[in-house]
Amino acid sequence: MARYIFITGGVVSSLGKGLASAALGALLQARGYTVRLRKLDPYLNVDPGTMSPFEHGEVFVTDDGAETDLDLGHYERFTGVSARSTDSVSSGRIYSTVLEKERRGDYLGKTIQVIPHVTNEIKDFISIGEDEVDFMLCEIGGTVGDIEALPFFEAIRQFSQDKPRGECIFMHLTLIPYLAAAGELKTKPTQHSVKELRSIGIAPDVLVCRSEHPIPDKERAKIGQFCNVRIENVIAAYDLKSIYEAPIAYHREGLDTAVLNAFGITDAPMPEMSRWDDVVDRISSTEGEVKIAIVGKYTQLGDAYKSINEALTHGGMANRVKVKVEWVDAEVFDTEDPAAHLEGFDAILVPGGFGERGTEGKIKAAEFARTRKVPYLGICLGMQMAVIEGARNLAGIKDAGSEEFDHEAGGKRFTPVVYHLKEWVQGNHKIARKVNDDKGGTMRLGAYTAQLTEGSKVAEVYGTSTIEERHRHRYEVDMKYREALEAQGMLFSGISPDGRLPEIVEWKDHPWFIGVQFHPELKSKPFDPHPLFASFINAAIESSRLV
Ligand code: GLN
Repeated sequence: MARYIFITGGVVSSLGKGLASAALGALLQARGYTVRLRKLDPYLNVDPGTMSPFEHGEVFVTDDGAETDLDLGHYERFTGVSARSTDSVSSGRIYSTVLEKERRGDYLGKTIQVIPHVTNEIKDFISIGEDEVDFMLCEIGGTVGDIEALPFFEAIRQFSQDKPRGECIFMHLTLIPYLAAAGELKTKPTQHSVKELRSIGIAPDVLVCRSEHPIPDKERAKIGQFCNVRIENVIAAYDLKSIYEAPIAYHREGLDTAVLNAFGITDAPMPEMSRWDDVVDRISSTEGEVKIAIVGKYTQLGDAYKSINEALTHGGMANRVKVKVEWVDAEVFDTEDPAAHLEGFDAILVPGGFGERGTEGKIKAAEFARTRKVPYLGICLGMQMAVIEGARNLAGIKDAGSEEFDHEAGGKRFTPVVYHLKEWVQGNHKIARKVNDDKGGTMRLGAYTAQLTEGSKVAEVYGTSTIEERHRHRYEVDMKYREALEAQGMLFSGISPDGRLPEIVEWKDHPWFIGVQFHPELKSKPFDPHPLFASFINAAIESSRLV
């Protein structure tokens, strides 16, 4: 049966709870334990699938097709444990389940209340699969004191009471600000945040204190005393050059020992950190740099493409080079010549995206990469753009486009080389969708198999003939244009097992031009860089040598 670690935050948001949870998961693994990480989000959206990446950051997709919070990406990148749909839940999902049950009459006419009905639903969720791992780490989104998070705090309080003593602990992240005028670190906000937590019945066992300045022992003792936490369980968390230093840094500060002590575990083996030593070594000792242009739309917010940024870093680690990423706004070359903006980059990546805005620019970026022989990685929409470019400029389909843009604008302006898929097969199931279905969860989502063509570039890159990658899209390249495009040298090198859906395309007469319908970035790890990203960065190194 799992032991539980509940992770909460106070004082301000964006303290890095997700990262701290992920790093703790990695440390427990390094000590030989099995872990699962879970995120409980207080917002009322049923899932982040329909939330703007501007507001909420990237939507992370699991193998089993859930659209989840980007923190699950951190969890996977640090622990290598594939997240499941049951590892992410929001208030919206909890309430909608409770209301569905109410409508079905499951509560037998009782009055439905936050306590116990909502809190019970949360507790049931927390305990799913608890017999599978040694430790279950549950992170509560938001900050203590948020009105909407109260049912979650109440649920974890009750949960710790329901369990035998010593099976649940609470870890609280706070901020210790530095007042330059006074020349002092200030512990009061932390004291208040712990007071807030205790007023709802939760006493933290471990405090993780973010600080930009060293926290002297005197201050730690003070925090411990006022917050009723042992001094050795007051852990400092300083800013790091790379997030991948977090497991080693937290171990140095004693986080894993504090957590295990809080459970009364004193005989745990010391952590085996060679994986993380190697990761840090690969980040810190590099030779040279490659410059990658990401041609996209959501250029303002790095979090919108969190996993792509991380996967590119992993690709750099695989090749021991620094990867410098620059965001180029695709809309600029809707009207302008892309060359002025793209010359000087060693490779071009066109990421996934939705909607027509910026797509003419992305098509031009694909043309630039093809004709100038610059390495190109097209992800999802980036693959669709590469196909449309080939169809227009080589296969003679001058008005080639995607049905997505016609749906958006109303009317029919394009030959739909990329069309709206309404029926497909996943494993042994047939899935069907209508054009006007709800916006949430109606895409082809989650892991699908693709068969790679022997002798193709991707078969060489992956070193295998069958792959499984994660999807999140509504539209597909239409197989009926395969012949026309292959006649021009575009190889359809990855296909769904039923032969209906193109998963990968590549230009044969090009050093490295690959478009994939899926999101390889979601499966890349610092200790196991995704082969496409490792190979893409390698191609960028080669191309940087040519200039
Ligand atoms: N908008 C495109 C589709 O729905 C691509 C989606 C994506 O890039 N994730 O097919």
